[in-house]
Amino acid sequence: MARESSAPTIIVGGGIGGLATAVSLASRGRRVHVLERAPAFEEIGAGIQLAPNALRILDELGVLDTALRDAVRPERGVLRDAQNGDVLVEIDFGEQFQETYDAPYVVTHRSDLLSALLAACESNELVTLENSRHVIGIQDRDDDVVVVCEDGTRYVTDLVIGADGLRSVCREYVVGDGPPVCRGDVAYRGTVPIALAHSAGEPPSVTWWVGPNMHLIQYPVRGGGLFNQVGVIVSDAYHEGVDPESQTWGTPEELDERFSQLDKRVRSSAALLNRDRRWALFDRPPTATWTRGRVTLLGDAAHPMLQYLAQGACQALEDAHILGQCLTEPGVATADALARYEQIRLPRASQVQLWARRVGDIVHGDGVIAILRNALLSQLAPNDFRLVDWLYADRQTSGLIPESSRR
Ligand SMILES: Cc1cc2nc3c(=O)[nH]c(=O)nc-3n(C[C@H](O)[C@H](O)[C@H](O)COP(=O)(O)OP(=O)(O)OC[C@H]3O[C@@H](n4cnc5c(N)ncnc54)[C@H](O)[C@@H]3O)c2cc1C
Repeated sequence: MARESSAPTIIVGGGIGGLATAVSLASRGRRVHVLERAPAFEEIGAGIQLAPNALRILDELGVLDTALRDAVRPERGVLRDAQNGDVLVEIDFGEQFQETYDAPYVVTHRSDLLSALLAACESNELVTLENSRHVIGIQDRDDDVVVVCEDGTRYVTDLVIGADGLRSVCREYVVGDGPPVCRGDVAYRGTVPIALAHSAGEPPSVTWWVGPNMHLIQYPVRGGGLFNQVGVIVSDAYHEGVDPESQTWGTPEELDERFSQLDKRVRSSAALLNRDRRWALFDRPPTATWTRGRVTLLGDAAHPMLQYLAQGACQALEDAHILGQCLTEPGVATADALARYEQIRLPRASQVQLWARRVGDIVHGDGVIAILRNALLSQLAPNDFRLVDWLYADRQTSGLIPESSRR
């Protein structure tokens, strides 16, 4: 006989999006229960870039100081041509940037961010956390919704927030649009001691090497002690019909081949990339809705994107903040709150999804595309923030909802 118990609002998935949502709701007085399928709340051993739009939210959630304890504040972002090493454009993350966006640009270790969110959940009595609960189904009834786990456990609740990532069970229930889309992009990543990095001793920066069907991102993390790298190639061996999860494409050999003709700093860095695991990259086109009845989505479950704007987690944090505000607005029915959440968040997150794809096409471009890209970028001064302004400055949808637009 299946066990059925009643639960407060359920958040499926305890990644960055799910735990941030738990903090956002509980800090406003709403009780939540997080179901995570993994036996522990954990992130992979890699870095993450956090832009000002995310930092303003971590501040609102009260976790900024803890999350950034070992973070690095790079002085600048540098885009380089991976073939000849030329600097194509720089962005200065100094005083003017920080004054413009009320926050710096930081790079940190994923597990430091997740630990900060987890600590905030654990210290709030309105949050309960459960591991090893693999959600396999949702049943929306007239007055409540049932969450079904693989082990037979069933929870009856008023609202389900699907923060269960790229292959979301909740999304399958809400949108039902099948598996996410792979276009043959694959990433290798990991951290090494900073002493092994070619840039050891230089001021901290985020460096983005771009070339035909490849890019390599590098930055220090953990107080500058570790060097994080993400190397991406667009595989020639991938085509329609290939299983995206098979190891037949985007192999380490293909990675080496693609990097072999590039600047020697790129080649030597690529040799440090971890070959044990690779990440096939996926996204989806934007969808018309994130909500069905008493189930809504956020983070990668709602708007999975290629990571080429370094915004997937930043957007999940924006979702968490706005959903928390909408659901705790006094006197507003849940259905109206969810509609408001979507109205604020869906257009912006969709725009980021679409632009992440376009940016991939531009940075991986060759021939005329690369010539035009380089010519346009070379006109930008380091304190010209026009390219990123729409992402980092948006306060209506990423920060507080202005009083004037509240009900
Ligand atoms: C190579 C790479 C580099 C990136 N770099 C950046 C960056 O610099 N900056 C940035 O902002 N973003 C970056 N991203 C994107 C970012 O990692 C994701 O957008 C973000 O982690 C999404 O968070 P999430 O909580 O929505 O989903 P996830 O992190 O996927 O979390 C989902 C959670 O739900 C759990 N779960 C899944 N299914 C179930 C189930 N059925 N039942 C219970 N639990 C379940 C999972 O175990 C997991 O804990 C990068 C992504 C990649 C691949």
